[in-house]
Amino acid sequence: MAKLTLDGVTKRFDDGGDVIVAVDDVSIEIDDGEFLVLVGPSGCGKSTTLRMIAGLETISDGRIAIDGDVVNDVPAQQREIAMVFQSYALYPHMTVRENMRFGLEESTTLDTDTMNERVEETATMLEIDDLLERKPSELSGGQQQRVALGRAIVRDPAVFLMDEPLSNLDAKLRSGMRMELQRLQHDLGVTTVYVTHDQTEAMTMGDRIAILDDGELQQVATPLECYHRPKNLFVAGFIGEPSMNFFDVSLEDDRLVGSGFEYPLSSPIRSELAGDEKLVLGIRPEDIEVLDARETAHDFPVRVDVVEPMGNENNLLAGFRTDENDSQFNVTTDGMRRIEEGTHYIARFPESAIHVFDRESGVALH
Ligand code: ATP
Repeated sequence: MAKLTLDGVTKRFDDGGDVIVAVDDVSIEIDDGEFLVLVGPSGCGKSTTLRMIAGLETISDGRIAIDGDVVNDVPAQQREIAMVFQSYALYPHMTVRENMRFGLEESTTLDTDTMNERVEETATMLEIDDLLERKPSELSGGQQQRVALGRAIVRDPAVFLMDEPLSNLDAKLRSGMRMELQRLQHDLGVTTVYVTHDQTEAMTMGDRIAILDDGELQQVATPLECYHRPKNLFVAGFIGEPSMNFFDVSLEDDRLVGSGFEYPLSSPIRSELAGDEKLVLGIRPEDIEVLDARETAHDFPVRVDVVEPMGNENNLLAGFRTDENDSQFNVTTDGMRRIEEGTHYIARFPESAIHVFDRESGVALH
């Protein structure tokens, strides 16, 4: 068990004379036993961060510490870390038993009997004990995934690092393994850093999520905090599916004026926006209410252009009827409600659900 500290961690690659800053001054404290999900779009620096923690990549600046001991110069094998890769990285010529034991032989000096015992205990825990004599080619993707996990668990490491471990599984297996992994991590209590670009995994698995963009840390918080109180436009747009709707607006007196609508602000929100004229209004599709009649100043006539029935909900593409630019936004409604394409409705943007950002810096103001 261990606390993991990243302090100003930076990675620069020299790309034929050009310097690429893959990870830029990232600081995160990961608590003992915590499950931290590192999430962000392709190329944002997730894998590089994980590889620096593992010791597979050098650190250009900053420090990484396990339980307060700086490990920058400690070789990978001596870091008490086990890594699970997307590709599983199993040895094809070895059986499951040999693959799992290999992880142990690399990192410990245990006697053979103890090693075998550990392999069997772990295999039982992962329900792969009947596969121990098979080769990886004789296993399904899900079973190979368990073996890769088993090889990490058997080492009893201080920290687990997982790089998109579920991305090669089909959707159904993935959601099952998502829950199983969470349960396992919880039972084992091992500090875990889990990399994914899948925001469903981030939202459902992590105690906290760390969101990276372009090598820079955008926010570290619980999934619900990132969802309800995103620190900036990037986090607001990245977390949530379908994504938050954004409207360019300007602040005029106590109203936000956008293309085809005017949104009056109550004085508490208005006072948070002093001095900022160029803003972005954000609202999540699931926070927009669809009504039959206009009742408040936050209700707007809209046309529904597209209806996608998903069963439990409908995804609508709608536009303000007074918007000459014909721009569209997403609305999610209850699947039981019948809404026809091409019809006119009233959309309510409740003031309790709106977000306001500075357009230039992207910083959340409300
Ligand atoms: P993905 O989700 O696509 O795996 P990622 O978030 O894990 O992406 P990284 O693989 O960490 O991103 O890469 C971050 C940046 O560093 C990218 O711009 C990448 O091209 C660059 N990079 C990574 N490894 C090297 C390297 N060895 N040499 C030069 N540039 C590199």
